[in-house]
Parts: sequence; structure tokens; C-alpha cells
Amino acid sequence: MADKAQLDAVLAQVDKDIDASLSRLFELIRIPSISTDPAYADHMRKAADWLKGQLHELDFDAGVRPTPGYPMVVGHAEGEGPHVLFYGHYDVQPVDPIELWNSDPFDPQLVDGKIVARGASDDKGQLMTFIEACRAWKAVTGKLPVKVSVLLEGEEESGSHSLPGFLDEAKAELKADIALVCDTDMWDPQTPSITTMLRGLVGEEVEITCASQDLHSGMFGNAARNPNQVLADIISSLRARDGSVTVPGFYDGVEDIPDSLRAQWDALGFDEKAFLGDVGLSIPAGEKGRSVLEQIWARPTCEINGMIGGYTGEGFKTVIPARASAKISFRLVAGQDPKKIREAFRAHVKALVPADCEVSFKEHGGSPAIALPLDGRFLNQAKQALSEEWGKETALTGSGGSIPVVGEFRRRLDMDSLMIGFALIDDRIHSPNEKYNLESFHRGIRSWVRVLASFA
Ligand SMILES: [Zn+2]
Repeated sequence: MADKAQLDAVLAQVDKDIDASLSRLFELIRIPSISTDPAYADHMRKAADWLKGQLHELDFDAGVRPTPGYPMVVGHAEGEGPHVLFYGHYDVQPVDPIELWNSDPFDPQLVDGKIVARGASDDKGQLMTFIEACRAWKAVTGKLPVKVSVLLEGEEESGSHSLPGFLDEAKAELKADIALVCDTDMWDPQTPSITTMLRGLVGEEVEITCASQDLHSGMFGNAARNPNQVLADIISSLRARDGSVTVPGFYDGVEDIPDSLRAQWDALGFDEKAFLGDVGLSIPAGEKGRSVLEQIWARPTCEINGMIGGYTGEGFKTVIPARASAKISFRLVAGQDPKKIREAFRAHVKALVPADCEVSFKEHGGSPAIALPLDGRFLNQAKQALSEEWGKETALTGSGGSIPVVGEFRRRLDMDSLMIGFALIDDRIHSPNEKYNLESFHRGIRSWVRVLASFA
């Protein structure tokens, strides 16, 4: 831990330099680095070079590294103590529909304490909070409190195709004690958060074939098996009335969240009624007896994403179709093995298919869940540091979706990630008039100053 006087001096430096920090962010925002549109390729390169320049100014050994797609910006700064790898991305989403913007998306405006521009929040504003925190440390102490590496990606918004290969190639230099991924939200404008759980995914497509051809329901009805019925029976067998998933072995290895975490989630004041009310619903459909937050963050799912079978056109057709299919996905939590879940699902389905019918499966991806150990050193130090900055207990949250880079760090670099970000749910990322609150930016910088100090 850096001493208190030093930390205060670095925080004061952040406050003093905030206008200059903001103009540096504006410089980066003005480069329209849209990765998905080849017309912006030159700007992609320019953004990467600009970031390399920033890291050079802070005495990082930095470079723009080629990949089959857009380059990675990589930098290393010496320091004592643990080694952290910071991750952000410098590419942004396209701007259309442009007519819905109140100002030029690449001409950042400060409106009522909000930075309005494409990339202001996702992810240029966020990644610059970290670089500016490093700048403040350098300005006051001449060095960084820990050993820092930085990885800035240019293809996050367009599929991260070069990331896995690059991580394999650069494993030796990128593998650190902990990764800091800055691409997520705060719990609310006052409450910092660290995302510690991401659900995994298994996707399956199942097709049932009964007769060798479509049949007339008058001539064959009753005698011929209807694949829509078989499929419906299978689907209705996947969940019990109480919302639990009934595939044998599905919950093997799934543990309840610790009571301390449940208490903390209860204290977040999550409004279940509003959450469901916003989408026109009122009754949680997951396992009974579990809160909605627990259902979406900490419990596995089985969802029917699509069902196809029989005549679905205009009018009416008395057909017994030959085949029917469904697309089904499972969100996984810690302890579940995607391969075993897939096998268990297939065995469950096969057992329900009549002997004169056939079933075939198609795999649609699989990835395990991520769950950080809650007693980890870095997690608890960062949690404390964020609480001190924001004056509120840091929320340890889950995310129902996935953040691919975190899985790649785990798999390829055997490294955990702390997902810490200062974006807010109303930042309109990917949408017109994207914004980042000046407070997110300013206190985000201060937060990283404290987090780095806490690791030292
Ligand atoms: Zn992002």
C-alpha cells in the first residue's frame, strides 16, 4: 500500500489536471475508429498510433502490434510488486442513424456535465481513465506503484477475431497476476461495482424427423407420429413447474451463492417489479424462492430461442409435417461443464424420441462461466479502494451476458480479470448521443489511482 500522503498528492494531481485529461480524451474521440467499416481503416491505425504516443509519454515500452485484422496497442511499464494487465478497446461502433444525433458524433461536446460523442463511454472514455491515472502517478512520483502492462484492442466491436491468436502469441509478455478490464457499468451513479460472475453458454439445435414426407392429417392423423408433438413434449419436459431445469445432472456442481453475497445483493435495492415491468411482465419465471438478481446472475437457464415446424404461412393447411426443430440455449454458471451439459441434454432428448423417429443435433458454441473467487487479494483490495473513492460499499455484481475477453484471458493466459468500469446504464452506448458523465471520467481516474495504490 502506498502511503496516504503520496496517494493524496496523486489524487490532487488528477483534480488539477482534469481539463487537460479531458482534452486528451477529446483528441482520441475525434479519431473515428469504426472497426466494422473498412472505410475507416486509416483512422483505426491513427487511433492506435495516438495511444502508443500516450503510453510513450508515460515511459511505457509501447508498440502497435500487427494482427490479421486491426493492430493491438501493447505497452509495458516497469514497477515493483504485482503485475497488472489493463485491457480496453479503441474501436467504436458505427454512428448511424446519424440524423438522431444532436451533434457530430466525432466532435465531442460537454453538455450538462456529460461528454457526448461516439466512444465517449464505450470504450475511449473508460480506457482513458486508466491511462490518465497512470499519468498522475508518473507526474507526482515519477513511476507507477505496480508493474503495469496495457493491451488495447481494435476489434472488440467487430468480433475480436484477432484476439485469441494474439493472446497465444504474446502470452509470455501479457500474462500478469491480474487483468483489469474496463468496459462495464457502475451499479448506479453513486455505487461502484466489480463484476465477478459471467454466465457461460451452450447452444443446441435439435431436429426431430418422423415420417419420410409431409402427410395429409385426414389420411394419416393418429396413425402417423407428429414431430411437432414430439418436440413439444421434449420442450415441456425441460423445466418443472417450479421453474427449475429438469435435465438430469443439470445442477451438478452448481453451488448456492454465499449468504454474505446474497445479503449484499439484497441490499442493492434492485427493483424486481420495475425490471420486469419495463418489459411488460410481472411474474419472475425462474426457480421459485430465488430473487430475480440471483436468477439472472447466479442461476443457469434453459431457454427455447426458436421453434420451427409444420405450416406457418397464411391460411390453414392440414399437414402432419415430416420434421420439426428447435434452437435451445443454456446459460451456465460456475461448476457446470459445457460439454457435460450438452451430453446430458442430448441424452435427455434421445430418451423421449419414439423408436420410429430420428433426432439430430447441431452444436452452436459452448463456453464455461466465469466466477472470481470472492476471497481473492486483488478483488478485495480493489473493492476497498473503490468504496473509499465513492463513499459507498462496492457492489460485487454478476452479468447475465458474456464479455469474451475475460474468458480468453482465463483460457489462454490462465489469468483472472477484475471487471471495473464507470459507465452508467443510461450512457446510450452503441446508440445516438452516446455520453459519459464527466463524473464517471474524473472519478474513474481517481478510482484507478486508488486501485493501483491498493495493489502496491
Ligand atoms: Zn466496449
